[in-house]
Amino acid sequence: MIPYLGSSKLEHFRPDPFSFIKELKKSRSLFPVIDLSIGAPNRPTPSWILESLKNSIEVTRYHTYPPQEGSPELRRAISDWYKTRFDVDLDPEKNVLVTIGTKEALFNSIQAMINQGDSVLVPDPGYPTYFDASYFAGAKVLTYNPTSSEDILINQIEQTVKSYNVKILIINFPSNPTGSIVSLSFYDALSELSHKYSFLVFSDIAYIDIVFDGLRCHSYLQANPSLTNSVEFFSFSKTYNMAGWRVGAMVGDERVISLVKLYKSKVDSGVFYPIQLAAVSALKETPDSYYKDLKEEYQRRRDKLTEYLITAGLSFLLPKGAMYVWVKVPKGTDCWNYVRDLHNYAGIVTVPGIAYGWSGTDHVRIGLVQEIDVLSEAGRRICEYHLNYRRLSQ
Ligand code: PLP
Repeated sequence: MIPYLGSSKLEHFRPDPFSFIKELKKSRSLFPVIDLSIGAPNRPTPSWILESLKNSIEVTRYHTYPPQEGSPELRRAISDWYKTRFDVDLDPEKNVLVTIGTKEALFNSIQAMINQGDSVLVPDPGYPTYFDASYFAGAKVLTYNPTSSEDILINQIEQTVKSYNVKILIINFPSNPTGSIVSLSFYDALSELSHKYSFLVFSDIAYIDIVFDGLRCHSYLQANPSLTNSVEFFSFSKTYNMAGWRVGAMVGDERVISLVKLYKSKVDSGVFYPIQLAAVSALKETPDSYYKDLKEEYQRRRDKLTEYLITAGLSFLLPKGAMYVWVKVPKGTDCWNYVRDLHNYAGIVTVPGIAYGWSGTDHVRIGLVQEIDVLSEAGRRICEYHLNYRRLSQ
């Protein structure tokens, strides 16, 4: 027998739901496929951001290795953004680190901070990197349900940190995949707990600008202006349609920022300078109307798709933000079989909920990542599958 070549840690990642989807897409479907699996915006990056890249790409001095901590221009722009948006003060030198997207930042921060056997408390369901990075660092992974009411959630977190040696709590609101959000008073209560029990809070605000029904989302740092024990992860990918650019940032507690900076200096060499300057344009030049339109567009998509899901008899949580609908699979099936059936008989690609933690075995995630007419067609086919094909085949 050929011995397994990879690191034993990689065994944690099997079966991999995303490889399953890739294989599925190669197989036959009754319809031309509509892909609602990947969490990437379908629209192009705005023109003023592209212009900025064009203007700096030929400057020779930008062609060398960029500064490890990020360009001064981008660190300053992020600090200004926090001041304007949330009235939070960040020192660009000490409290801001430019990263190759949020995924990298989360993964590397956990490697930089965790010792074998420390505990990390993560949302389940939650973004897969929280689990993957924690397993890779040798952490004990504990979970909480991000859709619980705020009182229950605070209580649950307190009971867990009292019983285990939790070093990091990860929060993500608006949540991928559930679309749930929390109030500023929840963050106040959490900040109190983090000081009382001395754990770090990692707040992932990848979807901060995608929130519906006139609701508002907050930065965790608003509840903790001293920044002690608090780190926030900022993404350009979703708000500015820049998923392929690979640029992001982490901000907050100077002690964590400098440790992650050291760790990253062993692993990567930063983000291409012109991309960082384009990210500055995203923060500085994007008009208010853009943010308003963005929210309205995703809300229209949510409303359209969920109308069909209701007709199909499916149950789901109505998302208050982010760009997904977290749907319970029908009785008698599981997430793997349901994803396969939706692909084979309706031509719709979704993600098996297990990708987001054990609580997802009976859910799938549907992304609002196509234009509204395409989502309507997807909704129509899901209805058709449920109301005709599935019923008849049972
Ligand atoms: N955090 C969450 C909650 C996400 O859903 C994603 C991407 O889907 C990321 C982070 C990664 O974003 P980035 O493109 O900045 O690495």
